[in-house]
Amino acid sequence: MPESADIARIAKLEQRLRFYEDLGLAPFYRDRASSNAAQSYSTLRSEVLSSHTIEDPPLPKSAPKTTAAPSSAVPAKAFAPLAPAAPSLFDAANKKQHESLLQIRDDLGECTRCKLHTTRHRIVFGDGSPQAQLVFVGEGPGADEDAQGLPFVGRAGKLLTQMIEAMGLQRRDVYICNVVKCRPPGNRQPEPDEVESCSPFLFRQLDSLKPKVIVCLGATAFQTLLQTNRSISHYRGQWLDFRGYKMLPTYHPAYLLRNPPAKADVWKDLQKVMAELGLEVKKTKAK
Ligand code: URA
Repeated sequence: MPESADIARIAKLEQRLRFYEDLGLAPFYRDRASSNAAQSYSTLRSEVLSSHTIEDPPLPKSAPKTTAAPSSAVPAKAFAPLAPAAPSLFDAANKKQHESLLQIRDDLGECTRCKLHTTRHRIVFGDGSPQAQLVFVGEGPGADEDAQGLPFVGRAGKLLTQMIEAMGLQRRDVYICNVVKCRPPGNRQPEPDEVESCSPFLFRQLDSLKPKVIVCLGATAFQTLLQTNRSISHYRGQWLDFRGYKMLPTYHPAYLLRNPPAKADVWKDLQKVMAELGLEVKKTKAK
């Protein structure tokens, strides 16, 4: 019986190979489903997972801001510096750079990588400026987005647009995308296999955009980027690090529609983002 450390290493390697494959770097598995290695891995993995509790490591805090904040800015927080990391998957991906959003969209094609393709009407890849310094990442398209092929155009989207405008920006100044590109039926949360299939495209979008700030809207985006099951509520409004990008999780606009008082917290978070981007922090509030 292999040690759980071996299983963890195998799992990491498998994830890495999958990601390389999705980046188009090499065909590592010709047939994942029928491979003996993949089968024995999944049997071992379920055995180990059922007998061990794996604890999450601490989430990485974002590095300190390097440029001076405007006078109206929220005072800079002391950030724990990142430990120098071993060369990552993303370093490999960066070497293949610079991938454009169009190339990534092309590669996604008429995607059938997960079951969501069977019920979607349109793929919702993302929308906004390829030069955006600010990226919002949501969970997945709803009915309106599925019909129009654009992210955040329904009720929650209208609120997000108001929030962006309250920051003194327009939607065209930012980039908006989701963890999954196809609508989960009945607006359910995306399932782990769907997130696993689709998230490499999100990571590639982020690497192409190289934004100054990523705002995660809701738990799915936060948990996917940081590969954690932890609750967003403990991390909301904190600067975290996603592969060298400054990332701030906040509540999803759909949650704000159900809990309007939480808008005040989100507005505080957006003011931090504005300070980070050197935008004038206004007194107005998202309605
Ligand atoms: N909710 C999301 O998370 N994304 C959208 O695009 C729309 C609603």
